Amino acid sequence: MPMIEPVALSTLTTFRVGGVPAAMVASQTEQELVDEALVVWSLDEDWMLLAGGSNTVAGDEGFEGTVIRIVTRGIERLDATQTADASAPDTVLLRVQAGEPWDELVAYTVAQGWAGIEALSGIPGSCGAAPVQNIGAYGQELADSLVAISFLDYETGEVVRLTADALGLDYRTSALKRGLRGIVLAIELELHDTEREASVVGAVLGQPIHYGQLAGALGVQVGDRVALSTVRETVLALRAAKGMVLDAADSDTWSAGSFFTNPIVSENFARSLPTALPRWPLAVEVPDRVIPLDDYFGVGPVPGIDQVQLVKLSAAWLIENAGIRRGFSLPGSQAAVSSKHTLALTNRGGASAEQIAELARYVLGRVQADFGINLQPEPVLVGLTL
Ligand SMILES: Cc1cc2nc3c(=O)[nH]c(=O)nc-3n(C[C@H](O)[C@H](O)[C@H](O)COP(=O)(O)OP(=O)(O)OC[C@H]3O[C@@H](n4cnc5c(N)ncnc54)[C@H](O)[C@@H]3O)c2cc1C
Repeated sequence: MPMIEPVALSTLTTFRVGGVPAAMVASQTEQELVDEALVVWSLDEDWMLLAGGSNTVAGDEGFEGTVIRIVTRGIERLDATQTADASAPDTVLLRVQAGEPWDELVAYTVAQGWAGIEALSGIPGSCGAAPVQNIGAYGQELADSLVAISFLDYETGEVVRLTADALGLDYRTSALKRGLRGIVLAIELELHDTEREASVVGAVLGQPIHYGQLAGALGVQVGDRVALSTVRETVLALRAAKGMVLDAADSDTWSAGSFFTNPIVSENFARSLPTALPRWPLAVEVPDRVIPLDDYFGVGPVPGIDQVQLVKLSAAWLIENAGIRRGFSLPGSQAAVSSKHTLALTNRGGASAEQIAELARYVLGRVQADFGINLQPEPVLVGLTL
């Protein structure tokens, strides 16, 4: 087994916190990764996966078990005519190894003139982790392009191909985040080859812009299409202004990106909140059975319903209006709210994981006290509780 000397998780995570784990393995190929994981799992000890470390907050004590590092690389173009999943002409099908850095993939596809993930430029981390929380930004999400994953199932020890619709991809979540244990070995993406269109219209255009702020920055209307490379550059600039592009020289980016997800509550409950709070209605959900809303959203029981209009709320607004400003930190702590964006908690340098947890608890408490909403953390917490 390719055991490696364990190093502190602070050196492998973008939050720069976390102690030394008991053991660590890393392998270079997909098959080695399968073999190595099966050995680790047969030990019946604790294990965790770590790829880019950009959505993991690891505790100061490290980790008692084995960290399986995901470092496999490679992008393969599949024959789109041979698969039933490819629905349209000009389709490009890619199979990408789990350890491939996501933003390098985006840069590559944009350079090739392949549209579909350009608005997801600048998101750190790996391709294998992308389905875990269905990464999304600026009007695109992975679910728009994901066809399938190759998955090593922890329960069966088998490698299976799971299509995207079996993954329950939703806003910053998936079956993988909700308890389906195993390893994403590779992802398959369907993109749009713009070459034929470009020869007609004379420009390499991205997908229609779906996000108002991005459309504004580009000087176009929502629904318009813009040169693929311009979308990437504009997204990167917007993200950098918010500290959402990793920068070793800028501690506002030493984070896990957004620390809290935008809460989803019933429309009924949302009506009791200040009208200035930005909100986005979601499609009406018709559950198979009546569910007590408090289980899901912490908003109090709503008995006897069979149809719920849901609304997504701005977590950043809730935090700011609970009196927590950009740059805020607790006395004596190196953990701070980003000076560029209230939704990101950051490490100003030398913060402990516990200091980050303390700050998160403080933010949670203030928002709960002022608005009665329990914000949910977006990153995966290892050896830490809020
Ligand atoms: C500055 C910054 C900006 C960000 N902006 C965004 C954004 O705009 N949108 C967004 O959605 N996210 C954003 N994120 C969060 C993060 O980049 C993504 O969640 C990313 O997909 C995490 O990838 P990773 O490889 O770093 O995951 P890791 O932190 O290594 O792992 C995260 C989780 O995924 C699991 N995992 C990792 N690899 C695999 C695998 N191969 N198979 C199964 N499970 C796996 C791990 O077990 C862990 O539970 C941002 C983070 C930072 C630091």
